[in-house]
Amino acid sequence: MAQDITERENILRMRKNFIANASHELRTPLTVIAGYLEMIQADEQLPESLGIAVDAAISQSIRMQRIIEDLLTLSRLENSALDDQSCSVIDIASMLQGIINNEKTLIIDNSHTLNATIDHDLKIKGMQTEINSACNNLIHNAIRHTQQGTEINVIWHMQPSGTACLVIKDNGQGISDEHIKHLTERFYRVDKGRSRDKGGTGLGLAIVQHIVLRHGGKLDIQSSLDKGSTFTICFPSKRVII
Ligand code: ADP
Repeated sequence: MAQDITERENILRMRKNFIANASHELRTPLTVIAGYLEMIQADEQLPESLGIAVDAAISQSIRMQRIIEDLLTLSRLENSALDDQSCSVIDIASMLQGIINNEKTLIIDNSHTLNATIDHDLKIKGMQTEINSACNNLIHNAIRHTQQGTEINVIWHMQPSGTACLVIKDNGQGISDEHIKHLTERFYRVDKGRSRDKGGTGLGLAIVQHIVLRHGGKLDIQSSLDKGSTFTICFPSKRVII
């Protein structure tokens, strides 16, 4: 049995290393290809028929760059423990306000309403860039994966137990039961086509899950079809600073 576990660990390590190395190796050539495509796109003498092809190639190269960046982020999260020295006191209230203000500028024709109920005194100790990325991912998802007219509530509060929780609740189309447990798996998407069209990589929730776990927290997903979804991340009381 010991041999079995060691073998499994070796395979897992090889898989992680392969993904990290492949992503790293693909990054530079892709940057070069994207650069040349942009030069071609800027050529005013480019025939219209070729212009369409170049536009499509550029949008696919941007998509590949996003996937590679997300894979590299995941590898980094998996292969290194959270370093206490890179942690600082995070003013979550102003971080959330910044994300919400930014998202509001991206909402077209008031398609979504974003409300916030934020405890301004509640801060946590953690890695600023990671926590920002997790919050951003969940709020962005609530807008991207829900239909027009959806209301989204962002709540940052302390529970009676002393844990600090961020709740992102939407009244969108929801997710059916069979998908919920798979959402944090890499590349798992309820609707692959729609997610791709919206620029998704399918890696966002896997990244959120890793970040939250590294901070000793928990990600909880509740959803019911036609009613909406609630994504909650809670940080343990030892990270809380009031
Ligand atoms: P991506 O958003 O890049 O597709 P994620 O890992 O962030 O990948 O999300 C995985 C899937 O979870 C999405 O493709 C979508 O189907 C579903 N999802 C995430 N958030 C919501 C939400 N608020 N409402 C409905 N579906 C969601």
